[in-house]
Amino acid sequence: MSNLKENSKWENFFNENIKKLEETKNFSKKNIKDFKKSDIKILQNLINFHSNLYYNEEKPIISDLEYDELFKKLEILEKKFGLEKKQTDLVWANFKESSFKKVAHSRPMISLDNTYNWEDLKKFNERVIKNIFDEKKSENLNTKESENLNTKESKNLKNIKNLNWKNTEKPYFEKIKYTLEYKFDWVWIELIYKNWKLIQAITRWNWIEWEDVTENIMQIKNIPKKINYPNYLEIRWEIVMPISSFEKLNFEAKKTGEKIFSNPRNAASWSIRMKNNEITKKRNLQFFAYDLANFEEFILSEKKENYFEVIKDLEKLWFEISSYFEEFDWIEKLIEKINNFSDFKKNIDFEVDGLVVKVVDINLWKKIGSTEHHPKYAIAYKFPAEIFTTKIISVEHQIGRTGTLTPVANLEKINIWWVIVKRATLHNYEEIEDLDIKIWDNIFIKRAWEVIPKIISVIKELRNWEEKTIKIPEFCPNCETKLKKDEWKVRVYCPNFFWCSAQIKEKLVWAIWKNWFNIDWFWEKQIKLFFDLWFIKNLSDIFELEKYKKEILDLEWFQEKSVNKLFLAIQKAKKVEIKTLIASLSIFWVWKKVSKILQILFKSKDDLLNFSYSYEEIEKLYEIWPEIWQNVYNFFNNLENKIILKKLEDILEIKYFVPLVEVEESEFFWKKVCITGSFEKDWKKISRDDLIEKLEKKAWFFINSVSKNTDFLLAWEKAGTKLKKALELWIEVLNLEGFLEKLKK
Ligand SMILES: [Zn+2]
Repeated sequence: MSNLKENSKWENFFNENIKKLEETKNFSKKNIKDFKKSDIKILQNLINFHSNLYYNEEKPIISDLEYDELFKKLEILEKKFGLEKKQTDLVWANFKESSFKKVAHSRPMISLDNTYNWEDLKKFNERVIKNIFDEKKSENLNTKESENLNTKESKNLKNIKNLNWKNTEKPYFEKIKYTLEYKFDWVWIELIYKNWKLIQAITRWNWIEWEDVTENIMQIKNIPKKINYPNYLEIRWEIVMPISSFEKLNFEAKKTGEKIFSNPRNAASWSIRMKNNEITKKRNLQFFAYDLANFEEFILSEKKENYFEVIKDLEKLWFEISSYFEEFDWIEKLIEKINNFSDFKKNIDFEVDGLVVKVVDINLWKKIGSTEHHPKYAIAYKFPAEIFTTKIISVEHQIGRTGTLTPVANLEKINIWWVIVKRATLHNYEEIEDLDIKIWDNIFIKRAWEVIPKIISVIKELRNWEEKTIKIPEFCPNCETKLKKDEWKVRVYCPNFFWCSAQIKEKLVWAIWKNWFNIDWFWEKQIKLFFDLWFIKNLSDIFELEKYKKEILDLEWFQEKSVNKLFLAIQKAKKVEIKTLIASLSIFWVWKKVSKILQILFKSKDDLLNFSYSYEEIEKLYEIWPEIWQNVYNFFNNLENKIILKKLEDILEIKYFVPLVEVEESEFFWKKVCITGSFEKDWKKISRDDLIEKLEKKAWFFINSVSKNTDFLLAWEKAGTKLKKALELWIEVLNLEGFLEKLKK
């Protein structure tokens, strides 16, 4: 009975979710001109509904961007119908109680206007200038108020007030200085200091209430309990959980069956609210002081006029400030920085929402003014949102060149930043299990910059028992051979390496690719066609394709001229280095890097046709672990492969590995060498690539970073952290002369 009750309760909850999701999607598609005044109420209800899922249940069913869009719509409707009362303020209600003490908080947070493109930043700058030079205001400059303005910028204003800013806007751009800093995902905390000491910490529970989390905050190391300032201070902090810590936390939680967090913000927010503050301590949170709640008081008592200096001052008072905070002389430079930010962003270990642009001269803030909702002297440039929702329609199983099966999800089409997305790769079957993905599931999907979309998680709240489990196929979808799993059960593959046509086609396409045989005039479609027509059955057949010249010319689309060019390109490709040949063979795990290492084993025809090294013999090779050896061994000792290799050896001109110095048995492993510093001076003598080639001839291995396994470091002028690290680890450091000397030995 109770079960039934539970079920129906759950079903109601579920139906409600589905209904609201559809409503949300309809609302976001709807054109503004089609909205009626009565829609405002519905929209408010919708936002309330999603807020509840987000804050109280922690189970959002739409992405942050979709949530923000609802808000934006509401703001637009408010304007459209000329409503006086701010409608967005009316949507916060019914938040679940938390057990922390509620505290009053009288100083409101300032919310910033935001934009997603830099064109808007130019307009923002124009508005700033216009507001400063507003005719009415510039008249006032002659009055008392202007006499009080005594910063450099304000003096400039007086000098140029009579000019028309529009016609001569360029020179004035230089007058407005801006700061640029990170905009984080809002987990805010305010710390109150008095008499050099931290006395209270409060955090925002929802849009209206604050709670006291002093005890928990006291546990956190990088929050100063004592500061270098005696007066009253209210410091605003952002709490950030590094992405790496977040992933680790979820990884551990999965093992122990604890709560899984949907994003780092969520995890950070709950970490500071843990009743057991020992846990708060362990969560590796980062804190950045970014603002003062009693800003006005502070600048008056400290006589500050420059925003950049105020924030920098916080550092002097022993607070940690954001790792990115920069001042710009004018907007163009700032925009240039923003345009190059995507590369920078990839290397930050926490999620950044965007960047905040602020006028540096605090005296100008009042002149520039505020709208009803936002200050006009600052704006947030937001990075394109990356998370969206859609649905899985079906799953296909694609077979690759090494026989590995890859599941690919077909999605309900969505438009993400002007690109239609309808497929997402799932990488492997373990990922399906990890994410618990089913067909017909609603999912959160992430598209970051130009990367292929990735499924982040399933919205389980929207399940209705009609979802279908994605089964790992038992048989190859191409040749119907029974599939195999590797030891870790991550890789599922078709073991029919020689006759599974889908695999062989992919192998051939791989081999002609520019990095390997590099055959111009040969395209994927052609090679697949020739395979289907039996002109090419394996790699060696490519080099005998000319036999079928007549048949090829009989085919539609093939002109003699281009066919001849193709044959010429094939002839040219016959000269091949052994490392390229190895990489072209589609041996699992053997790509460019591994083939470069393995080439040392192939000094003659005999090594290629009779590969007999045991793992013990080659285990000292850099990064060759038993599984790689096993794959290589199996490949070269397979009878069918041996036949093809024999044929290739006859047809091709293979350049085998020739060591610079005969490698002694005792030296039968690669030294690991790292190179660092600026080459300018020695550039003329030898290039970096030449050096690497010399290294490899000696059967040494070039590596990119210094670790305790590095044998030596070749350092030039301006060597930086690598040199420092090498010295710390007692690694031998050589200059160019020393290096060339060593090579001769
Ligand atoms: Zn197959």
